[in-house]
Amino acid sequence: MDVKLTLLDTGYCRQLELFSRKGGRLKNILFHALAGLIEHPVHGLLLFDTGYSPRFFDATSAFPYSLYGKITPVATDAGQSVRTQLVAQGIAPDQVKGILISHFHGDHIGGLRDFPLAELYCFQTAYEHVQGKTGWAALREGYLPDLMPDDFEQRVTFVDGTEPVALPEAYRPYKDAYDLFGDQSLLLVDLGGHALGQFGLFLRDRDHGDIFLCADAAWSSKAYREHLLPHPLARLIMADQKAYRENLYNLHLLSRRREDLRILPTHCEEVWHMSKGEFGWRS
Ligand SMILES: [Zn+2]
Repeated sequence: MDVKLTLLDTGYCRQLELFSRKGGRLKNILFHALAGLIEHPVHGLLLFDTGYSPRFFDATSAFPYSLYGKITPVATDAGQSVRTQLVAQGIAPDQVKGILISHFHGDHIGGLRDFPLAELYCFQTAYEHVQGKTGWAALREGYLPDLMPDDFEQRVTFVDGTEPVALPEAYRPYKDAYDLFGDQSLLLVDLGGHALGQFGLFLRDRDHGDIFLCADAAWSSKAYREHLLPHPLARLIMADQKAYRENLYNLHLLSRRREDLRILPTHCEEVWHMSKGEFGWRS
C-alpha cells in the first residue's frame, strides 16, 4: 500500500565534515535534522521521528546536559518545529495518530511532547537502553530525558516484540522486517549500531516510489554510496561499532543493487535539498 511522505526540516547543528566521513574536509558543515510526515490511507497521519524543537534548549540548559549543546551547536526556532509546520499546513497536533521513533537521540525526539494523543512505536532494545537514565549516563547516550512525554510507557508499542516477516529478494541484504500494520506499507528494519535498537523504515511513496528512511545508519548519501566510514573519533560515539560498520556496508550494497530506491539518511545535505522540493539534487 502506497503512502505519501513529506520531509520536514527542523533545524541543524554544526559539525566538522571530517568527523562525518572518511575524506571529509576540516570544515564545519550543517547537519540538518529531518522528520518525515507519512500520510497512510487507512491509519492516517504518522511521523518518522520529530527532529529538533525549541524544547532542546530547555532540555540542555542545565549541566551536564549543556555539554550536548556545546558539542553540537544547534540552530532551530519555533517555526521549524514539526508541530508548527503541521499547524501551518492545517493539521492539528491531535490528528497525528502515531510516531515512529528510530532511536532516542535528542535530535530525533525533540518534538515528542507536542503530540499527546499519538501512539508511540520503537524497539524495546532502544528504550530499555535509555530508560530511567539521567545526568551523565543519559548524556553519554545522547539522550535528553526532559524531551520524553510523561506518559510514554502508556502510549508505547514495542515493535520488536512482534514476529518479523521475511522480506522479498528486492530488499537484500535485509532479510526480515517488522510489518507495522500488517499491510506491508511500513516495514521496520533493525539498523542497530549507531544507537542500540535503531531502526530504518521502508515505504513506497505514491509520487517518488520506494524509499528507505535509514535514520543515522549513515550520515550522508555519499557515505553509503562510496562506503565511507566516519572518522575513528566519531566512531567512538557509536553504541556498537561492529554493527555500525555492517549496516553501513549493507546500505552500500543495497544502494548498488537498487538504483530506483531512495535511501534517505536523516542528516544528509541531499535529503535536506529534497525536503525543499529539489528531488534531483546531488552533491
Ligand atoms: Zn542519532
